[in-house]
Amino acid sequence: MSSHNGSSNGKVVPAAFPPPVDSPKEFVKRGLDPEDELIEVGVAIVGGGTAGLACANRLLQLLGDDPETMERLGEVPVAVVEKAKTCGGHNLSGAVMRPGPLQELFPDMTREQWREEGFAFGEVTKEAVYLTPTSKMSLRIPTPPPFKNHGNEVVSVSALARYQQRQAEEAGAYILTETSATQLIVEGADATGSNMGDGLRVVGVRSGDKGRGKEGEPLGNFEPGTDIKAHATVLAEGCWGHLTGAAIREFDLAAGREPQVWELGVKEVWKVPKPLDRLIHTMGPWPLKISTKYGQIGGTWIYPMKDEKTGEDLVSIGFVVELEYADATTSAHDLLQTFKTHPLVRGILEGGERVAWGAKALPGGGYWAMPKLSMPGAVLVGDSGGMVDTMALKGVHHCIKSGMLAAESIYAALKRGSQDFSNYEDAIEQSSVGKEMWEVRNARQPLQKGLFLGGPLSGVQQITKGKLPGRAAWHRNDSKPMFIGNTKDSYVKPDGKYTFDKLSSVFITGNATRDDAPNHIRVQKRVPRELAETWRWMCPAGVYEIPEDAPETGVVDVIVNYTNCVQCGAITAKGGRLTTPEGGDGPLYQIT
Ligand SMILES: Cc1cc2nc3c(=O)[nH]c(=O)nc-3n(C[C@H](O)[C@H](O)[C@H](O)COP(=O)(O)OP(=O)(O)OC[C@H]3O[C@@H](n4cnc5c(N)ncnc54)[C@H](O)[C@@H]3O)c2cc1C
Ligand code: SF4
Repeated sequence: MSSHNGSSNGKVVPAAFPPPVDSPKEFVKRGLDPEDELIEVGVAIVGGGTAGLACANRLLQLLGDDPETMERLGEVPVAVVEKAKTCGGHNLSGAVMRPGPLQELFPDMTREQWREEGFAFGEVTKEAVYLTPTSKMSLRIPTPPPFKNHGNEVVSVSALARYQQRQAEEAGAYILTETSATQLIVEGADATGSNMGDGLRVVGVRSGDKGRGKEGEPLGNFEPGTDIKAHATVLAEGCWGHLTGAAIREFDLAAGREPQVWELGVKEVWKVPKPLDRLIHTMGPWPLKISTKYGQIGGTWIYPMKDEKTGEDLVSIGFVVELEYADATTSAHDLLQTFKTHPLVRGILEGGERVAWGAKALPGGGYWAMPKLSMPGAVLVGDSGGMVDTMALKGVHHCIKSGMLAAESIYAALKRGSQDFSNYEDAIEQSSVGKEMWEVRNARQPLQKGLFLGGPLSGVQQITKGKLPGRAAWHRNDSKPMFIGNTKDSYVKPDGKYTFDKLSSVFITGNATRDDAPNHIRVQKRVPRELAETWRWMCPAGVYEIPEDAPETGVVDVIVNYTNCVQCGAITAKGGRLTTPEGGDGPLYQIT
């Protein structure tokens, strides 16, 4: 129940202010347009990130050896729908990757060739983990098991996606960039549209309209979207996908699972004067407030990158924070800027130059929060299926593996004329994805009680590799009561050289969202100050503003500068909803 100031039981809980969204009506289309008005493809893959493109690459390898099945899939056997200007444009990761699945996907390539192609930047040979008790001190600790990275490869997922796109196109994929998939198309619902109808199945997706104005009105260059009919649909939308959410709801894929939870990471890439000789992780507590009251859990990475083409020494640096915190003034962007002033970091970046910035959320719930991965006609891969081990901050290799397994399952089914892809679920369970996700399934949850209270139990779970029985529950991020604390007082003031504000950071992403595009961010526009402040500080792109003359307490207006949005997805965890903007809008990441 909402009280007079719009808060629930006196406490402001984001979930009490749900976004104005009607998922079943808006994001699900019941039935296809007439045959002559649609595009027909074999397999439609939504999302040209690491997972979606691994699926496309693997499918085309299999179809390349089987011209008969390829032909049966029609003129466009594999189509990838990607909303960024090019594949890679919206992809961001740390990223240190376990190499196995990529080696399996491209078995003829050496790691030296990965580096020559410009998406890999060197093998990890040395690593160090630090605690940072204060803004000046750092204490090296023995490397905890999840942080062991010896032999892994530092990559850029943005560059990797561009490489995978080229491979897929050469093999015959049709890649529709600058195209958002806005609706999941289902058939078989009963007359009331109820999802209890027998034979409900996914039959494709609809691409979004282009050229609409602020109020949704068609402009001079208006182009309507199109139904893309497919024998199989792969949802590879990354963290909190728009259609993934609709599919989870429509097919009840989250039944009996823990709720998904989220983390937000902000990353920079720096050109540095001297090479960094090791991979570094820090586990706080500074600059976080780790008491239960503030609930900030997070950490940082600093990864060395050697650009083989230019010979330049680069460094990837980033801050990840769980979106379970309670202080509304928590800002991953400002935490990263503040972290850079620590002597440990300053020594690495000093004399260098920032060349890239970006932000993205990731699913943190692990094994128990993974939805059911298949439904009639469609599957979920990569982050859409929640396949990230956040203890180790590793998802890239799971994305590749899941994309490959989905391709194999879809290929086998289509070859025998079936659209039942349910064995993909078992394939994941039995693969390295299922095994690794199982081992850490209860390790992260204790940290929701705070680092001090939950740390020891989390440690035991990690050491025993999941041998302890039980299922640890998750608490929804949007059910956490928010308060306006003082984390903001500890942030550094940007100097424009070494530390930066949000807007100059968004500028270097190449963000190009049309000023008169319709608003793709759904939030309530009058909310308690606690929630407005949460959004204002959380959003790495400075999208939410509170008018200067707004009251200090109670309900305030929220101004949404949605054209700054870098589509990180965090708002969905704290009471809002990121929907798909017009295709081609948003950042154009190159090396994140
Ligand atoms: C800050 C951070 C640090 C990380 N560090 C590491 C690390 O060091 N090592 C590691 O292994 N993992 C790391 N991860 C996890 C890893 O990055 C992810 O698991 C992985 O990149 C996800 O790949 P994906 O292909 O599933 O999704 P994404 O890379 O998000 O790709 C999804 C694609 O789909 C497109 N898309 C989405 N919806 C639509 C739509 N409706 N229509 C059209 N296009 C759409 C998007 O534009 C995007 O290109 C990190 C993640 C983050 C956020
Ligand atoms: S407005 Fe965009 S950039 Fe800001 S939190 Fe929401 S999704 Fe992320």
